[in-house]
Amino acid sequence: MENSKKIAILGSTGSIGTQALDVIRANPNSFEVEVLTGNGNADLLIRQAIEFNPNTVVIADQNKYHYVKDELNKHDIKVFTGKKAIADVVQMENIDMVLTAIVGYAGLESTISAINAGKQIALANKETLVVAGDLVTSLAKEKGINIYPVDSEHSAIFQCLAGEFHNPIEKIYLTASGGPFRGKKKDFLSTVKKEQALKHPNWEMGAKITIDSASLMNKGLEVIEAKWLFGLKPEQIDVIVHPQSIVHSLVQFTDGSMKAQMGLPDMKLPIQYAMGYPNRIKSDFPRFNFLNYPQLTFEQADTETFRNLALAFEAMNKGGNAACVLNAANEIAVQAFLNDKIGFLQMSDLIEKCLQKIAFISKPSYNDYVETDTETRRVARELL
Ligand code: NDP
Ligand code: MG
Repeated sequence: MENSKKIAILGSTGSIGTQALDVIRANPNSFEVEVLTGNGNADLLIRQAIEFNPNTVVIADQNKYHYVKDELNKHDIKVFTGKKAIADVVQMENIDMVLTAIVGYAGLESTISAINAGKQIALANKETLVVAGDLVTSLAKEKGINIYPVDSEHSAIFQCLAGEFHNPIEKIYLTASGGPFRGKKKDFLSTVKKEQALKHPNWEMGAKITIDSASLMNKGLEVIEAKWLFGLKPEQIDVIVHPQSIVHSLVQFTDGSMKAQMGLPDMKLPIQYAMGYPNRIKSDFPRFNFLNYPQLTFEQADTETFRNLALAFEAMNKGGNAACVLNAANEIAVQAFLNDKIGFLQMSDLIEKCLQKIAFISKPSYNDYVETDTETRRVARELL
């Protein structure tokens, strides 16, 4: 189609990736799929490719390569494998926009590669900005490309800023649901199992971000993400717990006026807004009904119990490679918790120890970030 936006979806087999394909399925005249990538879920990737007929598919897990290739070559779809291949294919000439929906540090290289090739970015992979926000945002500026937030809180802020770009932000409030353990204290948290942590009250997401939501690390990562996306100082960012997840975040301007963006919790809305920007695309998503929510409530986040949020603020304030350390230690901690190797509260212990142990670099280069990530993972595994 002539005027449709050509999209590469990195991580198409995940929670964000599959919902992005739902949006595209509902809007076949607005979007075309150029590239799909997955890691281990070969069968879903094959089904997606047969339905959406992209030019190219990457299966990151090399063990699945021949299986995917044999299935898709029949359909005239190119198939590549390996991490490097994702960073290569995002540079293909036909792509207008890259949706970064890989989870974790693994998404960094391909995001930088896409920006280098001048592609617009719809960014779900928040860890990219947590790890190397300075490099990623200055590269985007240099290349003249926009990073459209997919994360619902950041999409909310971005929507509140429409028409306000010349007006300085005084402050932003990121809302947090509080997760499944809101109101609980340490004695309770010391006994929780992954099955409880994986039950989020309002959102259905991939395993890693669901654990991050239970530990409030997700909000910590989002605070750092917001700093880079909107060019804010740490003291301009606040977190407020809002259990109903209807107000997705707020901006306060210098005249004291506040704008909020609201809606039912459904990631398809921010995904569609990022992909369709500057247009709002008509949708049949369920509408918010005030009478179903007679009370919207707000409360302080408990950073004494949920130390990850405090650790993230600390890392942001420290700057340099501290947030990169925080992120790598957290990825190891979450994996260990999901493998029943450590308890819920020990995740914060591990992250704190890594922040103390890893050498601080005040102005890291890309290679410094790569080394910091590797070294932090090594130290974290040793500490386990
Ligand atoms: P999922 O775990 O559901 O999906 C992750 C995707 O990345 C899958 O396609 C997976 O492939 C792929 N992947 C995983 N590891 C690698 C790797 N090493 N190399 C290449 N590809 C890999 O995660 P989500 O969709 O929940 O989250 C994706 C990102 O979006 C995260 O950064 C998260 O923080 C962010 N986000 C998610 C939200 C949500 O509602 N889910 C909300 C806001 C932000 P496969 O499944 O085939 O193995
Ligand atoms: Mg979010």
